[in-house]
Amino acid sequence: MSDTHPTHAVPLEAGAGPDNPPCPACGEPLFGWLAARPYLRGPVSRCESCGLGVVGSSGGPEEALRELDRLAASGSLRIVNRASFACSLGGAGWAGLGPEAHYLFTVEAVRRLVSDRDQIVRWRRWAPLAGLAVTWQTLLNSVTLGHNAASDALGRDQGTLAKERWQRRIDILASVVLATPALLVAIPVELGGGLIGRGAVVSLRFELL
Ligand SMILES: [Zn+2]
Repeated sequence: MSDTHPTHAVPLEAGAGPDNPPCPACGEPLFGWLAARPYLRGPVSRCESCGLGVVGSSGGPEEALRELDRLAASGSLRIVNRASFACSLGGAGWAGLGPEAHYLFTVEAVRRLVSDRDQIVRWRRWAPLAGLAVTWQTLLNSVTLGHNAASDALGRDQGTLAKERWQRRIDILASVVLATPALLVAIPVELGGGLIGRGAVVSLRFELL
């Protein structure tokens, strides 16, 4: 007699409820991912289907599309990819998180969002240098008290620095000492991610059908 039992797949919709609002991109329920932190506007939830992350409360598809259009205002859209190796590796230390972050996009989430207004993603391209910078900063975040302190010091991005002056000094020292080792780890991580479509930064173009 066999000990195996038939397995039943539980649809994601079964998790929908007041604590799990629908994903603005695909409509599947959002599930809790990260607790609130000083450098975030609220706790973070994520969609298990398209990968979209939402910091704080979700304003629905229209708001997510407005955020997408704001990012694309300069002519081309660049997303810090929530489906990247860097994000999987960094978790709460992922450099894509910050005080301004609200919607954390993936290529699939963008595809789903723009399809609602009859647009398709025409092409996507990994941005290796920008991605390497994000992966490098993500690795440094695992050893600093502040968040994105090195990018802040380099004027690349606004970081959330540690409260005390001595803590900020330690962060700068740690970033300087570990800059090269972190880079040596970041290169293969980002290269591996980029080669299988999970680079840290992706450029996209979407057009009307
Ligand atoms: Zn989704």
